[in-house]
Amino acid sequence: MTEQTKQRLRERFEQILAAQYKKATTISDIEQIALDIGGQIKQAATEEVGQEAQEIDPQRESETTRGAESFQRATRVCCPGCQGNAWFKMQRVRSIQTLAGMLTLERAYYHCKKCQKGFCPLDTRLGLEQGSFYSPALAQEICALSASMPYELAMQTLARLTKVVVSGRSAQRLATGLVAQIVSDFVDQREEQMLPLAYLPEEKIPQELPEPEVLYLQADGIHTPMEDGSWKEMKVAVVRAEYFDGREMMPSHYISHLGEAATFGKHWEALALSCGSLKSKCLVVIGDGATWIWNLASTHFPRAVQILDFYHASEYVSAVARAVFGEQEAQKSAWLASRLHELKHSHWSSFWFALAELNQPTLESLVSLRTYFSHHASRMEYASYLKRGLCIGSGLAESSCKRIVSDRLKGSGMHWSVLGAEVIARLRGFFLGGEWDVFQAFWNARPRRGDTSPL
Ligand SMILES: [Zn+2]
Repeated sequence: MTEQTKQRLRERFEQILAAQYKKATTISDIEQIALDIGGQIKQAATEEVGQEAQEIDPQRESETTRGAESFQRATRVCCPGCQGNAWFKMQRVRSIQTLAGMLTLERAYYHCKKCQKGFCPLDTRLGLEQGSFYSPALAQEICALSASMPYELAMQTLARLTKVVVSGRSAQRLATGLVAQIVSDFVDQREEQMLPLAYLPEEKIPQELPEPEVLYLQADGIHTPMEDGSWKEMKVAVVRAEYFDGREMMPSHYISHLGEAATFGKHWEALALSCGSLKSKCLVVIGDGATWIWNLASTHFPRAVQILDFYHASEYVSAVARAVFGEQEAQKSAWLASRLHELKHSHWSSFWFALAELNQPTLESLVSLRTYFSHHASRMEYASYLKRGLCIGSGLAESSCKRIVSDRLKGSGMHWSVLGAEVIARLRGFFLGGEWDVFQAFWNARPRRGDTSPL
């Protein structure tokens, strides 16, 4: 900060302090007066520091002589698109909302005839995002709150806590515009970095990747209400790293995708690789009967043990018990308990013998049980999984769907665009998976493009 800026700030602080404040008699008075002074000082600082930053603009041409004329505006600058000449057109005013207050900038606007594009060099230098009214720090707070609760409520909370007023609609526009792009770049970058690792020889696998003892890979789908009144399946994957004794090694990580299984599979694999799937001693995929889950498991995690969720398997046995025993509760539950015990401990001969004993080979529920069990036989060796200390339920996938999707996207009257649903679900995943800081660092390090709107 220059001495001139400091001097201007001192004068403004004096003015702020010269105002009449009532005498504080309660803790609430003290708090209120301190907040008022703090707010005014923050706004003054934003304006003065902003003024100083603005003085770098207008740009000086290299041939302009130093001294008094050094602030002479350049009539032309180098176009970032074609490296040719872009000519000065006008001064343009732009307002930026920050966590510290409103900043109004007047900057020189240049236009390149060849590219048919205009830009303000100062925007790029200040790291302002094209078309965004918010500083990155404020935009990140807007996102964090919007991922947690409905847009309107989120922005009411923001206003209460920070005095920064943003409408729910603006928060939504930010999420589905700039933020959707950043989130998608973040996910793409992980894929670019991670997916090639799967083809590396063992000694070349980066040291810094985690080394879980057991890595559980679970996925599930959940219907999400769309704005055209239809429902679309959001696929959610969760990756949980554990020690052999079942303790969690790091927070579970999440990724979601509203669309094709093939694209989702790549996201899932990249996430698993980042959680150390190449180094884990045991890799396990647990899922329900959905075909897409097992197809993806075979494609992306060929060395994983595949386990059919025990609860889904047991539901087929329950259906048979209901059909056979009807209202005879005692007999029904005794029979069911024995079958589930056999299922869990892989006592297959007694299990199939008991089913044959029912002597109802054409019973509909029994036919579907046979089909389902024969299809998933290799994923139902529960005794051996339990002996190895592995989990046999997909509860984690189901609770992840609830936390990522239901808790935010299925509120009453909510309807989503594909982009809107996906960006919010992913932001929630970053939050719940402890990845928010990594995402924020990616956002802050990202090159910004400034204003290149056509004249
Ligand atoms: Zn150009």
